Amino acid sequence: MLNNQGRPTHAGEATAEPHRTFTSNRALQMEEALIFEIGRPDVTGVDIDEPAAFSPRLGGLERAAAIGLPGLSEPEAMRHYVRLSQKNYSIDGGLYPLGSCTMKHNPRLNERMARLPGFADVHPLQPQSTVQGALDLIDELARWLVEITGMESVAMSPKAGAHGEACGIMAIRAAIEASGEAATRRIVLVPESAHGTNPATAALVGFEVRTVPAGPDGKVHADAVRPLLGPDVAAIMLTNPNTCGLFESEIVEIARLVHEAGAYFYCDGANLNAIMGKARPGDLGVDAMHINLHKTFSTPHGGGGPGAGPVVLSKRLAAFAPVPFVTRDGDARRLVEDADGTQAFGRMTTFHGQMGMFVRALSFALSHGGDGLRQASEDAVLSANYVRACLGDLMSLPFGDRPCMHEVLFDDAWLKDTGVSTLDFAKAMIDEGYHPMTVYFPLVVHGAMLIEPTESESKASLDLFIATLRDLAFSVKNGDRDRFSGAPYHAPRRRLDETRAARNPVLRWTAPKLAEKAVAAE
Ligand SMILES: *Cc1c(COP(=O)(O)O)cnc(C)c1O
Repeated sequence: MLNNQGRPTHAGEATAEPHRTFTSNRALQMEEALIFEIGRPDVTGVDIDEPAAFSPRLGGLERAAAIGLPGLSEPEAMRHYVRLSQKNYSIDGGLYPLGSCTMKHNPRLNERMARLPGFADVHPLQPQSTVQGALDLIDELARWLVEITGMESVAMSPKAGAHGEACGIMAIRAAIEASGEAATRRIVLVPESAHGTNPATAALVGFEVRTVPAGPDGKVHADAVRPLLGPDVAAIMLTNPNTCGLFESEIVEIARLVHEAGAYFYCDGANLNAIMGKARPGDLGVDAMHINLHKTFSTPHGGGGPGAGPVVLSKRLAAFAPVPFVTRDGDARRLVEDADGTQAFGRMTTFHGQMGMFVRALSFALSHGGDGLRQASEDAVLSANYVRACLGDLMSLPFGDRPCMHEVLFDDAWLKDTGVSTLDFAKAMIDEGYHPMTVYFPLVVHGAMLIEPTESESKASLDLFIATLRDLAFSVKNGDRDRFSGAPYHAPRRRLDETRAARNPVLRWTAPKLAEKAVAAE
C-alpha cells in the first residue's frame, strides 16, 4: 500500500495499489523481456536468397546446428534497445547524488569539440606528422594539469582512476628498484576510509597493505602514521579531500614524515574537484596523484569507460613515468614511444590514452579558464554545504556540524529504532525519481549516506532534492514504515537480491527447454 502519511496529498492522487494492467506495462514504463525471449530463430530482418549449391572450404569445421540467434523485425529490434536505453538513470535525466563518484553535467560544447573530425577520426597508428594538432592538444592539456597541481610532469595514458593508481604505484616501485631498496620497502600504508581501489592497487602491484586508522573526527592524523613508518615502508596512499568529504588538514605534516622515512606520498586525487584552484597537491608534498578527468573535468563516466586518469608526478618520480609521452622538437611535437634508453617503467596502454576525453577535458578547462575552474570547486563545496545545512536538523552528521568539502556524509544514527534502514531510505528515493546517494560507504561510518551534488546543479534543483529528502525524513519520524519497507513501489523491478546477483551472476541465457533438462539431469 502506498500509504504515505507524511506526504502531501495531491488532488487526484491515487492512494491505493495501482490497477494491474494486461501488458504489465505501467503507462510509458514498458516491460521488456530478454531479446532471446522475444526473438524467433526463424525470423530475419533481411531478405537474402538461399545461396546456390556450393562446397564449403572449411575442412569440416562448418556449423552443424542452427546458430540460435534471436530473429526480430527491424522495428522490434529497434524498440527493444530503445526501451532498454530508457531504463537507464542518467545525469542527463536527473540529479545524481552519488558521493565519491562526481557525476556532473557533461557540457555539450565539449561533446561538439570531441566530435570534430580532426580529433574523432585520428588513428593511433597514423604517422606523427599527420597528427601534430592532436599531439599538441595532449601536450596543452598536460600543461594545464601540471600547472593546476603544481607537479613536475604527467603521464597521460592511464584510462581510469584505478588505472592511474596502478601507474603511480608502479612508478614508485620503479623508483624504489632504482635505489636498490626493492627487497626492503614492501609496505604501502592505506587509511581505513580509503576507496577500495587503493588497497587493491597496492596489492596488485605486489606490495603488502597496512591499514592506518582514522581518527574520531574522520581524518588521518600524523600521530597515527608516525608509528607505522620505517625503512620497510614504500608509500602511503592518502585521499584528499578524503572519502568522508573532509580535508586532511595534517597532510603537510604527514608528507614530511613519509619523506623523512624515505617513502613516497601517493595522493588519490579523485576529489580534486573540491580543491582545484585553491590548493596545489605539489605544494602539499604529494609525489604522485591521479586525476579522474570524469570527476573533475566533466568528461562522461559512460558506464565504466572510456575514461582517463592522468597521473601527475613529482620531481622524484618524473623520470619513471611510462611511455608514451609527448616532447617538443622545436615547433614539432614528437611522441616518445620506446622506453629503451629512458627510466620509464614501461607502458600502461597499447596506444596513447583516451583522445576523446582529452579533447573534452581541455575544452572544459579552456571554456572555464583558471578562475572558472576555481569557482567550479567553490560551487561544488557550497552545494554540498547547502545540502548539509538544509538536512542536518533531521539526518545525523557523524562528524558534527562542521563544514564539509565537495560531499556531505550522513550516518544512520537518526534511523535508530525507526525500523527504517539506510537501504530502505535509499530505495524510497527511487520512487521519488532520484538515483540514491552512495550508501554504506565509507565504511568508517555506520549506515553511511554520502551525497555529492556537484557544482552543476541549480539552486532550484537542489531545493527540490532537499525538499524530497526532508519529506522522506518526516515520514521516517512519523513512523510511516510502509513507505520504506517495500520501496521501490514504482520501479520496474522491486528489490533484487543484490548479494546473490553479485556472487552468482547469471550472464548466459539458456533456452527454457535446455534449462529444464539440466535441472532434470541433476
Ligand atoms: C572514483 C574513485 C576512484 C576510482 O576511480 P575510477 O576512475 O572509477 O577507476 C578511486 N578513489 C576514489 C576516492 C574515488 O572516488
